[in-house]
Amino acid sequence: MIPQNFEYQTPASLKEALAMLSGGEAKILAGGMSLIPMMKLRLAAPERLVDLSRVPGLSGITEDAGVIRIGAMTTHHEIEDSTLLRVRCPLLAEAAANIGDVQVRNMGTIGGSVAHADPAADYPASLLALEAKVRLVSAKSERTLSLEEFLVDTLTTALEPGEILREVIVPVEAIGAGVNYQKMVQPASGFAIVGIAARVTKANGKPNFARVGVTGLAGKAYRAVNVEKVLLDTGDVQKAAAVVADGVDANGDLFASTEYRIRMAQVYTARALTQALARAV
Ligand SMILES: Cc1cc2nc3c(=O)[nH]c(=O)nc-3n(C[C@H](O)[C@H](O)[C@H](O)COP(=O)(O)OP(=O)(O)OC[C@H]3O[C@@H](n4cnc5c(N)ncnc54)[C@H](O)[C@@H]3O)c2cc1C
Repeated sequence: MIPQNFEYQTPASLKEALAMLSGGEAKILAGGMSLIPMMKLRLAAPERLVDLSRVPGLSGITEDAGVIRIGAMTTHHEIEDSTLLRVRCPLLAEAAANIGDVQVRNMGTIGGSVAHADPAADYPASLLALEAKVRLVSAKSERTLSLEEFLVDTLTTALEPGEILREVIVPVEAIGAGVNYQKMVQPASGFAIVGIAARVTKANGKPNFARVGVTGLAGKAYRAVNVEKVLLDTGDVQKAAAVVADGVDANGDLFASTEYRIRMAQVYTARALTQALARAV
């Protein structure tokens, strides 16, 4: 339970942080909620930690030309509590409120969660449904990826050595859209056994736009385009929810077998769609 020795650095600017990371062997420390437990279990043993907590300009939530920019060091609590997000992008605030407990939400950051790429993390379902983007910076370059491009596999992302995830970009929600995040909680860890995020709009009482993100079911979170298609083709929530695991290599573990997880994904997809449709006007 004691981490291997490491060097600890506290850059005071983004430029300094990027210079410290450019060697490649250092690891970023954000809220420490995932990295420190991994270091204590010796699942991670970085030689150097670069703590971003004193770097100005990496946190905060701002609206800018139809999108909302969320700094990587913004905490889950700040996202849950943000009036801007609650009004203009409520799905993300709803997802944040479902993360862990008060302590985790006070320390953990959106950048850390997305970069960690835990397959049972809450944000990715909502961020995929929102078709979110991430802005990555390094000492030499800057690029913007969709979350789908960014999430490569379990605990694996498209981040290159020396890169910092600087901000997450989400759209301002459409007027009249209904959104919902439904999570089946693993009681010991608080993570999602399955988590389903849904966004819909309606015209003449029928769904005419749908986005569905799924976490917990597979090795990485994914967008359930087949669910979206069946919902738009048939308007039938149960038929749409039934295909959520089609073509997916579903996880199974001590808490939830593969079959049970798939069934729960169907149940929670139906709940998320029903709730989102009820909220859409
Ligand atoms: C008891 C407990 C319960 C939890 N329950 C949940 C839950 O229910 N749902 C959920 O989604 N999560 C849960 N978590 C995880 C939590 O959300 C973490 O906050 C999150 O996974 C990591 O964020 P962090 O800021 O703590 O990052 P850290 O732990 O500091 O870093 C995580 C990883 O991301 C990298 N990193 C961090 N920031 C950046 C950046 N800006 N750019 C590039 N790389 C970066 C680090 O190098 C490290 O590899 C829980 C954690 C705990 C301890």
